[in-house]
Amino acid sequence: MFDLDTLVRPNIRAMKPYSSARDEFQGEAQVMLDANENSLGSAGPERFNRYPDPLQRAVKAELAQLKRVQPAQIFLGNGSDEAIDLLVRLTCVPGQDRILILPPTYGMYEVAANLNDVGIERLPLTADFHLAPETVAAVVASEAKLVFMCSPNNPTGNLLHAEAIEQILRGFRGLVVVDEAYADFAAAPSWTTRLAEFPNLVVLQTFSKAWGLAGLRLGMAFAAPEVISYLNKIKPPYNVSAATQQHALQALQDAPHFEQMRRALLEGRDWLAQQLPTLPIVETVFASDANFLLVRFRPDATVLYHYLLDQGIVVRNRTTQPGCAGTLRLTVGTPAENEQLLQALREFAG
Ligand SMILES: *Cc1c(COP(=O)(O)O)cnc(C)c1O
Repeated sequence: MFDLDTLVRPNIRAMKPYSSARDEFQGEAQVMLDANENSLGSAGPERFNRYPDPLQRAVKAELAQLKRVQPAQIFLGNGSDEAIDLLVRLTCVPGQDRILILPPTYGMYEVAANLNDVGIERLPLTADFHLAPETVAAVVASEAKLVFMCSPNNPTGNLLHAEAIEQILRGFRGLVVVDEAYADFAAAPSWTTRLAEFPNLVVLQTFSKAWGLAGLRLGMAFAAPEVISYLNKIKPPYNVSAATQQHALQALQDAPHFEQMRRALLEGRDWLAQQLPTLPIVETVFASDANFLLVRFRPDATVLYHYLLDQGIVVRNRTTQPGCAGTLRLTVGTPAENEQLLQALREFAG
């Protein structure tokens, strides 16, 4: 059924990857004259004169322990957005193949497809943002090369039902990408725990959300070693900088802070989810397993959006997204920010 080699673009199967100086020689020698680096040092306060490890082995060794996977099951990229782009390019022949998405969902899947001249098949989620049985059947029957499923979903916040994802993993012929950017906020095990069962499963996670490192640009893809090898084959050789690798190692040593922030954000989410429904302008607060809440306002979310902007509060207007009429997406902030947001909403409500 699923066959990775036939799924991968023929030119990628056939190509020889770039072999960097750091691929050909790993480790520390006394005299490093192989990569046209500057042996004298670096401009600026810190030394970055050496190219980084192209396969980020130190970071992966730490991550493998944390996530209970093998290093060979990990790909690291310049944000998970890089992994999204590489997955599209790995499988889809431009002008010929297509991806499958389930709107409303994260916008980057569509952008990556458009950039690569790849078609987009859209199968909308239900009104409460789940996979209908007929949608699951349509995904399984689709000829698309890969399906992106975002769970917890952005912008709606909910987890997709595990049984539906599992049916797709068992039936779909292409790669099944489960984007878990918000997994750290969800009350469900990660799909990384099921990697051994599904050779077609790719799980995306990121340092941009719960780890608080959006500015660093570090994303993760977890998959069977065969899939990871292909991603490594086509990635830019030094796609994760030395600064990022060093910082990520330090962050991974700071798990207590991560856990403390994660808990605080969950408390903030619960507080907002309790408070918001008391406002007359709030029609629905959608259940969230992420660090944001999708909220349907009445009578006019866009007027409210601009009112909040005037108050110096920027939220995400999602009113034009399929199935999201009347909604704004509110990121959970600090307790003071959450209070400020609620106060502004109260004042708008009159
Ligand atoms: C924020 C987000 C990402 C993260 O992208 P990075 O490039 O890692 O910052 C990925 N997927 C979804 C659904 C997101 O909301």
